[in-house]
Amino acid sequence: MPAPLSAEELAERKMRFLFTLRSKGITDARTLGAMERIDRGLFVRGLFADRAYEDMPLPIACGQTISQPSVVGLMTQALEVGPRDTVLEIGTGSGYQAAILACLARRVYTVDRHRRLAREAEALFARLHLNNIITLSGDGSHGLPDQAPFDRIIVTAAAEDPPGPLLSQLKIGGIMIVPVGQSDTVQSLIRVRRLEQGFDYEELRAVRFVPLVEGMASD
Ligand code: SAH
Repeated sequence: MPAPLSAEELAERKMRFLFTLRSKGITDARTLGAMERIDRGLFVRGLFADRAYEDMPLPIACGQTISQPSVVGLMTQALEVGPRDTVLEIGTGSGYQAAILACLARRVYTVDRHRRLAREAEALFARLHLNNIITLSGDGSHGLPDQAPFDRIIVTAAAEDPPGPLLSQLKIGGIMIVPVGQSDTVQSLIRVRRLEQGFDYEELRAVRFVPLVEGMASD
């Protein structure tokens, strides 16, 4: 294990982390505030823990990844979350994205197909007193029909197309962010707005996410 960081080195890394976010186009003050408040170091464990403040995706349990911070920032910013919004996240992973959303929204539902990831994230949310997150394990590609409709939906795994059940669970005027494309190639991050009639699609940038997989994981 690497030696623990001194308080000065930790503060320095966190400052550089925020500087990098700004330099990569995260300009929304609420998003930056939430990313300053939620310590990514708590969400990365083991071998890679000392790289938590670098702008790179990192491995987490169950063969999954915690997204690159600048991508988390861009997705959060593009989601335009307001304080009265109810947000659905598909792909809890480490819980980092959900924790950031919890600072901005009224309530966050987050779902992962790996029970272990959902359980570990839930324990972290409790430790951080993020009491407005509801963590569930299940196949999120069908959304949460009982809690729908949602003001905002964020999918943090790549789908071949924006999943139909999720589109139908978005409120009129609502926004969904979803990476779309084959999992082993470059995908496009898409912002979908639900209009009175139909949907408006906007391509934000190229990204790379683990695939959205149907069904529960066996572990
Ligand atoms: N948002 C996470 C990163 C997500 S990685 C973070 O901040 O750390 C993608 C996650 O999506 C993985 O944990 C994977 O298990 C989950 N996933 C993939 N397909 C899924 C599905 N159909 N339903 C729910 N979760 C899914």
